Amino acid sequence: TMQSDNKNGLRRFDPVRKSGSGFENGNDQASGIRPGNLEDPEVASLFDSGDPDRIFEELRAIGHGSFGAVFFARNKDTHESVAIKKMSFMGKQAVEKWLDILKEIRFLWNLRHPNIIEYKGCYLKEQTAWLVTEYCLGSASDILHVHKQSGLREPEISAICSGVLQALDHLHSLSRIHRDVKAGNILLSESGAVKLADFGSASLICPAQSFVGTPYWMAPELILAMEEGNYDGKVDVCNLHRTGRGKPPYFSMNAMSALYHIPQNESPSLDPGGRDGWSPTFRNFVATCLLKSPEERPTSQVLLNSHPFLTCGRSPNLILLELITRTKAAVRELDDNLNCRKMKRILLTEE
Ligand code: ATP
Ligand code: MG
Ligand code: MG
Repeated sequence: TMQSDNKNGLRRFDPVRKSGSGFENGNDQASGIRPGNLEDPEVASLFDSGDPDRIFEELRAIGHGSFGAVFFARNKDTHESVAIKKMSFMGKQAVEKWLDILKEIRFLWNLRHPNIIEYKGCYLKEQTAWLVTEYCLGSASDILHVHKQSGLREPEISAICSGVLQALDHLHSLSRIHRDVKAGNILLSESGAVKLADFGSASLICPAQSFVGTPYWMAPELILAMEEGNYDGKVDVCNLHRTGRGKPPYFSMNAMSALYHIPQNESPSLDPGGRDGWSPTFRNFVATCLLKSPEERPTSQVLLNSHPFLTCGRSPNLILLELITRTKAAVRELDDNLNCRKMKRILLTEE
């Protein structure tokens, strides 16, 4: 079920499971499935052996989600920094949780791309899966939060969007859909690379039908697919425009109202009527990503190769390294109050 006051915790909202679309989760009836059972060799092959508490040390919480928490950690042998997403499948809806965990691992384990978070392994311990990936400094959402007075600069937004589009182009070429592209799921590595993360809502098939994602960020056709038809990778393109700014349109409404307004109304625009100093190129990019009709909206590949907002300018990597430097400097200046302490994790590896 969905809680309208929990705007970040809206994970899988699937109220209208049509018959025939349930195979996405492996088994619609979820009967005969025992969470944590590794008798099926295909399931067993998804997990690494060994006790993760003996392999990793220095665990420190860096993020939270509906599933549990994400930790920074170090491999005891190699001293490599990693991120660990601990996902419990205890309690209510254990079977659904278990199937979602398997789905996320299946999605990630054989993906290799410079702009997709690198999978390093997965362990099982005490009704909890430990999904291990490369460690990143923080999300675009964290960075936006640090610079909430001034916002991000256009070249920075362009560099982030280019990286995300490279990742999406790769996923879409494999007929996969992310379905939850938003600033909190776009991470930056220490070396200034953009890494798309969080495949908890992703689809291994395309076109897809089920109703999955975070309501405020959903493309119109994804919401309409609840009633009719299906959608493809273009739902990811529609989500991209939010990267440079904080909140999506309709965020002041409860989630149910937003779901009604997204397909009903005209596409939102960048600060309508405001003299905000955005360039015409950037305005056009946002408008293009938001084209309501998926037929008119370009694919990630077309955007990447031809939109002037992405094809001009300096090396994205240098721009992002500068953004990281300026973000760390801003975080060092922050007070130690509760709100800011969360941001200090960007400095975690400096201490
Ligand atoms: P779900 O959508 O499955 O309920 P979630 O969206 O909260 O969960 P993630 O997006 O995977 O889960 O992780 C939550 C947060 O943890 C991210 O927004 C980010 O701040 C942090 N995080 C996740 N993975 C990493 C990583 N590899 N490196 C650094 N921080 C990470
Ligand atoms: Mg997330
Ligand atoms: Mg998620």
